[in-house]
Amino acid sequence: MKRIYFPEPFRIKSVEPLAILTREEREQKIAEAGYNVFSLRSRDVYIDLLTDSGTGAMSSSQWAGVMMGDESYAGADCYYAVQKSAGRIFGFPYLQIVHQGRAAEKVLLPILLEGKKYAIANMHFDTTRAHVELAGARAIDCVVPEALDTLSPYDFKGNMDVARLERYIADMGASNIGVVIMTVTNNSAGGQPVSVENIHATRDLCHRHGIKFMIDAARYAENAYFIKQREPAYRNATIPEIVRAMFEGADCFTMSAKKDAIVNMGGLIGCRDKAVFELVKQRTISFEGFVTYGGMSGRDIEALARGLEEGVDENYLRYRIGQMEYLAARLEEAGIPFQRPVGGHAVFVDAKKMLPHIPYYEFPAQALAIELYREAGIRACDIGSYMLGNDPDTGKQLEAEFEFTRLAIPRRVYTQSHLDVIADALINISERASEIRGYRIVEEPPILRHFTARLAPLG
Ligand SMILES: *Cc1c(COP(=O)(O)O)cnc(C)c1O
Repeated sequence: MKRIYFPEPFRIKSVEPLAILTREEREQKIAEAGYNVFSLRSRDVYIDLLTDSGTGAMSSSQWAGVMMGDESYAGADCYYAVQKSAGRIFGFPYLQIVHQGRAAEKVLLPILLEGKKYAIANMHFDTTRAHVELAGARAIDCVVPEALDTLSPYDFKGNMDVARLERYIADMGASNIGVVIMTVTNNSAGGQPVSVENIHATRDLCHRHGIKFMIDAARYAENAYFIKQREPAYRNATIPEIVRAMFEGADCFTMSAKKDAIVNMGGLIGCRDKAVFELVKQRTISFEGFVTYGGMSGRDIEALARGLEEGVDENYLRYRIGQMEYLAARLEEAGIPFQRPVGGHAVFVDAKKMLPHIPYYEFPAQALAIELYREAGIRACDIGSYMLGNDPDTGKQLEAEFEFTRLAIPRRVYTQSHLDVIADALINISERASEIRGYRIVEEPPILRHFTARLAPLG
């Protein structure tokens, strides 16, 4: 029997035309961009897989909500709409909207980390790590070892290593740890899910030691869908029931609504402690805006209220994860190596295995990203040594654990034909893999160089 991977639970009402450049034009554009995909103009890209953040397509209901958005400075209707939908989905008594995920981190983390030395997470997302460090604490990752083996078929590669966390608590002293963070899904490990069992074990361990437990909730719905597929105790639960189980007893959460709430801008903070919430509100007013708009326009708030509900629809999630599974199955069939099982928002192609002749200091994952643009106008990005950068002390290029070329899939944007173009382009490249050359950097800023550096192909 043929598997139907992702019956799309929508049809298309409005389309956005895309330019299709010739190979010669693409060669010229990527050379002009200094072989840096961040310097390409989006109009010169055919399939944009740079990120799944804020790039989703809104529904007709969300667009109707945009027109209904209440732009009042205080007490707008859309504010109450978000309180209602988010309250129902997450089961938290206190909720604060902010303009995006890192704004939630900027408001909440200094409150939790005041006078503390450490934050521990399954894995910190990079902006989360930055806000932990800006608050004067150190960010420590504590993911299960299975996450680091791309071939291991483990179901919950996003999980916290609870035994190691227990040792950290004993070594560091519970009173020095401001917060333990669970990122769902675990973005930096490749969009890998975390089980409810692991969330609860981590939460209970924290609470036995009087440590606050926080969820970084950007991909709450995709995580819930994986739980339904893979955690037997939840096989018959609905997605909203699973989300409630994930968030049960957590002290607080931060959320980038640009992911699973399918809006182009937005964020959310949840807490259970009234005293913490009072501080959250004060800091929101200084950094973001009055509490009922939190740095957003009313129309975006109304779209968020509706997107939160659409994000937990099971038919939508089957289609969403089905897209990843379809693309992964096509790559598997062609023998193209990637992090498996495939995650919730992206396919991470293993460029180290695909281009074994290119050493880390000639950036194999960046070389593959450039090749994808040349081949079919696809924009992916390097998650490897090129992104990692140089050792700040010696100035020498660091070697990353993985050389991944990440294909992040925007929500509700691309069709199965687009996915086939991606798979076919990778297959074409793999057939001439040995001819592909690495790159050297000709110009780079001292920090976060991957966004602006210029490169040149090696002969
Ligand atoms: C995107 C993301 C953030 C930051 O959110 P922004 O909306 O980009 O500011 C934080 N944590 C995780 C896990 C994310 O994926």
